[in-house]
Amino acid sequence: MILANPRSTLHALKPMGIGSTDVESLTSYLCRLAVSHSVSLPSMAKLIAGTIQETLRENFDWHERQLSGISETAHIWASAISMLTGVGSLDQLTLSPWAQVIPAKGLITRQVRWCPDCFRDDTKAGHERYYRLSWNIGVVTICHKHHRPLILACPECGRVNQRHKASYVIPGWCSNCGCCLAEQAAQDLDSTYRVKPEEMWIARQIGLLLACQTSLELLPSATIVRENIRLIITGLDHGIGANFAKRIGVSKSSVHYWLNSGGLPTLNNLLQIAAHSGISLADLLTQPLKNWTPPIDHPQIALDLGHMNKERLLPRVLDWEKIKTELMVFARLPVPISVAEAGRRLEIDDRYLYLQANQEARVLGVRWKQYVARRKYLAMLEIKPTLESACREIIEDGRSINLREIERKVPYEILMKVEHLYDVLNEIKEKLRIT
Ligand SMILES: [Zn+2]
Ligand SMILES: [Zn+2]
Repeated sequence: MILANPRSTLHALKPMGIGSTDVESLTSYLCRLAVSHSVSLPSMAKLIAGTIQETLRENFDWHERQLSGISETAHIWASAISMLTGVGSLDQLTLSPWAQVIPAKGLITRQVRWCPDCFRDDTKAGHERYYRLSWNIGVVTICHKHHRPLILACPECGRVNQRHKASYVIPGWCSNCGCCLAEQAAQDLDSTYRVKPEEMWIARQIGLLLACQTSLELLPSATIVRENIRLIITGLDHGIGANFAKRIGVSKSSVHYWLNSGGLPTLNNLLQIAAHSGISLADLLTQPLKNWTPPIDHPQIALDLGHMNKERLLPRVLDWEKIKTELMVFARLPVPISVAEAGRRLEIDDRYLYLQANQEARVLGVRWKQYVARRKYLAMLEIKPTLESACREIIEDGRSINLREIERKVPYEILMKVEHLYDVLNEIKEKLRIT
């Protein structure tokens, strides 16, 4: 705890990480402030609310306020705390500098998340542990510094979101069991988890955005962002909004809404736009793109945000004569392949194969069909005796043949291979009745 201004009403705690990717969140600052005064969070919140003449209801859930967010509330609370502590610029601990250019919807996550390694770094650096602002942002799933997923559950008691319920919160410690959150979490032991490059890219973009919010000369404005998007559409898609919409995985009307009706792309969409245009999110939001030229081929990273446009960026010129030759090579493979598989290998939608190389595709198709039928026939030859003897046993036990009885006698892996099992059983039943 560093006291920078002893004359203030509240302790003038120094905000952590200002101007860096590791900037503290206002929520974290409030927690530390309450700890510093040895009062509960609700009491501290009440005091601050009193300053801004806001009434808090009895069971005030202060996490609902999204104090570190982008809303007016975040701004008001930041200025009230600044006033009481004498520490200026606490709005830097919120996302409010971006209020004009990033929509609030879905921006902040309600989950309390952290990076244990960052907490450990805090201890090593000899200062208090604190919650980073980036951990509040929903699209950020990993720590860009330590290349590891953010943690949700206490390693000791396994509880999540305990910070929301507690009256006393010490950043870096579980509010339920008091254990140290810098400890290795259960999630860490999951060796199958691999940080995806797009997760890293997003965390990095958000980090850079937060780092630059201190040095902004002017507050980012929607006009600049809109002009930038217009320029990008011109550069990438000759000004055709529909093509651009397809590229970044949104509807045509969304793009129209951004450009003409005062709407703004969500953070996810902004990240898509940045990825496709090859500029950073911070640049897209803060400065007019003067010398920007469209990237030659691929976006800087394929963002998997749930609606990623998987199509190729540039239309591929297909040499159909060559493709036909390749299809004929496929048709001579010792183990036949389907038209769909051929399409996959050639990276062409198999419907096009039928349209443009009809004869060759049909040769493949027929061969595949015969192969599948033959394989099924052979499989049945192998399985049928097993099924028949199972049916015989069932009859000998004095039971009737049905699926449940068969499942008891024949392993699932075998039954799984039988097509139209019900019909096959009827057929066997009929046969056994005759013999
Ligand atoms: Zn970290
Ligand atoms: Zn715990």
